[in-house]
Amino acid sequence: MLQTTIAGSLPKPSWLAEPEKLWAAWRPTGDALLEAKRDATILSIKEQEIAGIDIVGDGEQARQHFVHGFLERIAGVDFEKRVTMGIRNNRYEAMVPTVTAPLTRMGPVHSFEAGIARASTTKKLKFTLPGPMTIIDTIADGYYGDRVKMAMAFADLLNQEAKELEALGVDVIQFDEPAFNVYMDQVRDWGIEALERAAAGLKCTTAVHICYGYGIKANIDWKQSLGSEWRQYEDTFPVIAKSKIDQVSLECANSRVPIDLIALLDGKDVLVGAIDVASETVETPEQVAAVIRTAMQFVKPEKLYPCTNCGMAPLPRAVAQGKLVSLAKGAAIVRAELAR
Ligand code: ZN
Repeated sequence: MLQTTIAGSLPKPSWLAEPEKLWAAWRPTGDALLEAKRDATILSIKEQEIAGIDIVGDGEQARQHFVHGFLERIAGVDFEKRVTMGIRNNRYEAMVPTVTAPLTRMGPVHSFEAGIARASTTKKLKFTLPGPMTIIDTIADGYYGDRVKMAMAFADLLNQEAKELEALGVDVIQFDEPAFNVYMDQVRDWGIEALERAAAGLKCTTAVHICYGYGIKANIDWKQSLGSEWRQYEDTFPVIAKSKIDQVSLECANSRVPIDLIALLDGKDVLVGAIDVASETVETPEQVAAVIRTAMQFVKPEKLYPCTNCGMAPLPRAVAQGKLVSLAKGAAIVRAELAR
């Protein structure tokens, strides 16, 4: 009950990549980079264990970015043809590669770090992949001429990858779909279909993560523009509730999401964000417990998983570690209350 977990990314050590940055450049090169990715993955698992997190992840230590880390091993994606593109409905600009040919996997994308993570822990292991809608919102199209068709092509590749990860012993596969909070009509029209296609045939637990983004300036400014109540989830949760996906990871701590919206996810596991990733202030365990108690008004504790709002990649390492400790302690407070 109240098993803790993380949304996905954790800060990388400064010997691996430039700290406190998204799309941070790698520091080692060649074989030394591979070795450093391996070491950082083990370290990341151990730090979660030390903090007391129940369902751990690889911390996304072996990929530069949660979307592009997957794209780097996809034939048909040309990283030489990088273009500046407005993403998430033009919320911010990113340098993105271009699809120039039919999409195929060059081979396993994340088996290396998934295998290392699996061998490093006896705890339940979660692994994240970008969702199809978020991928096509983070790449330019010079081939398909139809974004939905391209999303379905990516969904098939994600499905191949997810099945390999499952075979390696991953317990939870999560698809990250921050784009679901931007294109709500398209979620209904084809986004869920693409997501289910990515998760088709998986026997492990499946999850979707929908958030308001990393704590970067463009996202903080965007949140300011969303008014006093953020009701994006109101459109998407009923559609997700009808889907085959088992779990939904959502943003809650320090947000303007009306918490009663999580009742729309009836039947699903809810990974409630009890850690704010846009603030360097470490929550107290009591603050985490307060979020969990509020969420329990709408979700049974056995369906509730205290989590972070989003990935913590851009945060200082010590801050992220402190937040993990508070997450675990906050859940323990509420578990003790329930045991009484
Ligand atoms: Zn997120």
